[in-house]
This record gives sequence, C-alpha cells and structure tokens, in this order.
Amino acid sequence: MCSLDKYLKYKKESLMHLNLIKEEKQMALLELKKVKKIYQQGKIEVPALRGIDLTVEPGEFTTIFGPSGSGKTTLLNMIGCLDTPTEGEIRLNDKKVSDLSRKELAMTRRYNIGFVFQSYNLIPVLTAYENVEFAIRLIDHSSELQIKEKVLKMLAEVGLKGLESRRPNELSGGEKQRVAIARALVKEPKLILADEPTANLDSENAAGVVDIMRKMNKELNTTFIFSTHDPMVMKYANRYINLKDGMITADERRG
Ligand code: ADP
Ligand code: MG
Repeated sequence: MCSLDKYLKYKKESLMHLNLIKEEKQMALLELKKVKKIYQQGKIEVPALRGIDLTVEPGEFTTIFGPSGSGKTTLLNMIGCLDTPTEGEIRLNDKKVSDLSRKELAMTRRYNIGFVFQSYNLIPVLTAYENVEFAIRLIDHSSELQIKEKVLKMLAEVGLKGLESRRPNELSGGEKQRVAIARALVKEPKLILADEPTANLDSENAAGVVDIMRKMNKELNTTFIFSTHDPMVMKYANRYINLKDGMITADERRG
C-alpha cells in the first residue's frame, strides 16, 4: 500500500472513530416506516394500509401476496412514488420521498424504477415497439441502431416477435401485459415493481417472463417487488410478504 493510501485509510478510520462519517454498510434500497393510506370515498374512510414497516435490500426478489383488497396495489403505488401515504415515511436510496421536488420525483421514477401496472397503462396510439422505445429514449442516448436492437431484443424475449407494429387495441390482454413488462425491463432500472405481472399470461409465457426477471436479478442485481397469486412466480422469490387488511402478517426470507 502506498503512503497516500495508508494516510487515507488512517484518516478514514480516525474519522469513523470520532463518528464523523458513517461506517460503510450496505444501504437499504427502500424503507417504509409506519406507512398508512386512507382513501376518502365521500364521507367514508377506507383504510387500505394500516401501518407498514418494511425494509428492502438491493437485489431482493420479493413477492407480496394476499387476498384481493388487502392493499397490494396501494403498497406498490406508494413504493413507486405514484401516490403519497396519509401517514408515515418512505425512503428510497436513503432519501425521504416526501422531501423530493416534483422534478426529483419524476427523475427517480424515470431512472430508477420500472413499473408494470395491473392495467398495463400502454399509450394507445403507439405500437408495441414504440411503447417500449419511448421508455428507453427518455433515459438512454445511444445511437438509433443500438436502441432499435435493444427494443427488438426485449420484445423478442417476452415472446412478442412479429407483433412489434401492433397497437394495444390489436393485442390480447396477455400480449399487452408483455409489452408493459418489456417497457419496464428495457430501462434496466434498479427497482422493478410489478402488480400481478403474470396474471394474464399462460404458463409458458409466464415462465418466460419470470426467467427474464431472474436473469436481471442475478446479472444486474435488479431488485424486484411484485404482487402475485401465481405459485410459479412465488417459487422463484427469495422473500415472501403476506398482506392482510393493509397489514404485513408474515415476512419470510428463503434461499
Ligand atoms: P389489492 O391490490 O390487494 O386488491 P388495493 O390496494 O387495490 O388491494 O385496495 C385496498 C383497499 O383500498 C380496498 O378496500 C380497495 O377497495 C380500497 N381502494 C383502493 N383504491 C382506492 C381508491 N382509489 N379509492 C377508494 N378506495 C380504494
Ligand atoms: Mg391489486
């Protein structure tokens, strides 16, 4: 070790000792503290989340399962910064989400989060190819040719080769879902949130989608959080969170 390295090491250790800098430990990607969400429906209050405490580390492959109405979609919307909690705190990359400006929030969503919506949310006037291309163009300034290669490869990986020029109204539910999945994955974000991503897929296509997700998780350490009822998807997860009436009733890590 050269003397400069030695000096820096000594300096770091002494600062740590004095507690002036934090020890380098792996930072949680996501932290929720006592998160509550109450929807107001006229005069009626609907409590969808009743105090969620949750920490997710980078690289986790987590499923959220629970009966319909248990709060899965609400929870994913909060994590994805699409909606704000009524109470409690959410931190992404150690930054408090409520402190971010609208622009910072938009940037966080654009660069760090891929979202697969239960209702797909595709742009109706764009083709399957253009829906995926649009997402990647916002963040990737590679050449035209490189972008085209990436988009076509991604669409082929989710089994949509040959359907690139179809618009959403010319695609089945399962095909639309695969476009939505390709759109989220093509950005290679740090965190992918997916709301029942295989719900409208047959078992072969569901297996294909899960394979891509696992590959991204292994190779790029992408963190996945998805709600599902699908035993095939659950089988591959390494963490299981059970949600009931807006509360976490079980949280188990495996493998
Ligand atoms: P899940 O995804 O597990 O089916 P949701 O998060 O969609 O559950 O819903 C949780 C609860 O919140 C349900 O009781 C649902 O009716 C209610 N809810 C969800 N969205 C709204 C909304 N926009 N307005 C009022 N109530 C809502
Ligand atoms: Mg839902």
